[in-house]
Amino acid sequence: MKVVIFGPPGSGKGTYASRLVNKLGSPHISTGDLVREEIRNKTLLGKKIEKYSSSGTLVPDEIITEILKKRLASELSKGFILEGYPRTVGQAKELEKITKVDVVMNLNVPDSVIVDRLSSRLQCRTCGAIYNEKTMPPKVAGKCDKDGGELFRRVDDQPEVIRERLRVYQEASAPVIDFYRSKHLLKDIRNEDPNADPDKVVEQIVKTIKQ
Ligand code: AMP
Repeated sequence: MKVVIFGPPGSGKGTYASRLVNKLGSPHISTGDLVREEIRNKTLLGKKIEKYSSSGTLVPDEIITEILKKRLASELSKGFILEGYPRTVGQAKELEKITKVDVVMNLNVPDSVIVDRLSSRLQCRTCGAIYNEKTMPPKVAGKCDKDGGELFRRVDDQPEVIRERLRVYQEASAPVIDFYRSKHLLKDIRNEDPNADPDKVVEQIVKTIKQ
């Protein structure tokens, strides 16, 4: 199955996408994780795109599309749970050229919940698992439950960068909703409870996908 998980930064895309892997049997592909990997490995590309990622602005469409194509090349037949892409209508059109999409899940989360969630988010440096100091803390402070990796706070989870990411989302990404709605591929998921159990939300997503 080819599923896109769409929503503003901090809407839980990564958390839900990773939990959908077992339910849907397709790999989780996160362009944000691919970007961070390039930066961490200090590749030529990583050096070029670091300024976008750390300031909360978007990597240009051509570059991010190339990164995604490289990742999809070997795996397209397994389907995907794609998260973080497309983020512009231009990217949505590029994705159409690469493959058809079965469904786009649109996560609706109020800004107040987003800011609160991102300011307390932690991620594992090794496996990318996501935690939240307040709502989803690790069993041992600072360590990943899965592999003991070090938990870090993303540089773009600072309040002023969060505000910029939300602005960019409204301007560049929100129009993607209309693009997919007009193609009857969009399904809405409402999530207004900041303490919602992620497994419950995942159940709701699976149910909605199968409807
Ligand atoms: P994320 O983890 O999805 O919030 O992505 C982190 C950062 O990576 C974003 O703020 C962008 O700078 C960059 N990025 C990830 N996916 C995309 C995309 N589809 N288009 C442009 N930039 C992206």
